[in-house]
Amino acid sequence: MDPLVAKIIYFIGYWFANFVIRAPHIKAHQRVPVRSNRKTRPDRLLFLAVGLGGFLVPLLYVFTPVLSFANYSIPLWIGVGGVVILLIGDWIFWKSHKDLGTNWSPTLEIREGHRLVAEGIYARIRHPMYLSIWLLVIAQAMILPNGVAGFSGLIPFGALYFLRVGQEERMMIEEFGADYEQYLKKTGRLLPKLLP
Ligand code: SAH
Repeated sequence: MDPLVAKIIYFIGYWFANFVIRAPHIKAHQRVPVRSNRKTRPDRLLFLAVGLGGFLVPLLYVFTPVLSFANYSIPLWIGVGGVVILLIGDWIFWKSHKDLGTNWSPTLEIREGHRLVAEGIYARIRHPMYLSIWLLVIAQAMILPNGVAGFSGLIPFGALYFLRVGQEERMMIEEFGADYEQYLKKTGRLLPKLLP
């Protein structure tokens, strides 16, 4: 795929997710007070690394020559597959923000009036937002023809996901008890459960 087209498509997909879909939720969630906060330092650092790796490193790749040593070419079919994955990722990102509403937060928190969301996209999958971010960082690797800028989202997000997902489920069990345990039985982490 033409590197210029790849750069444009990647940034449109990234801007759409973060500045169009997420921005209004950041404002809305800031208005709801936090009741319990489980932020940890590794989680905060990895969260920052995902932002730098998804945005700042690709910006460096586009506007400076510093990463040009790691350029390579990507076959068109992989790039086109990446665009499809990016679009699906953006859609799931939008839908999970919409369904989670003000229960969303960028870190592990329980907010005033927090309720267990078990409908919409959350009816079958416990972590659709993390699924969507997996898709976005995989698309980044398939679209950007550079060994650093392609993988700078995938590596920190992979680490953040595996660090966070178990902690998040333990926090939800502490908060919602039997209701979350029931919910665990009906849903898959990232993909719907096929067998009951
Ligand atoms: N892991 C979810 C949500 C990510 S946002 C996903 O990938 O879709 C992280 C916050 O969402 C956590 O701090 C937790 O408080 C909240 N959360 C996660 N699952 C939830 C659910 N089913 N209902 C309500 N809040 C939830």
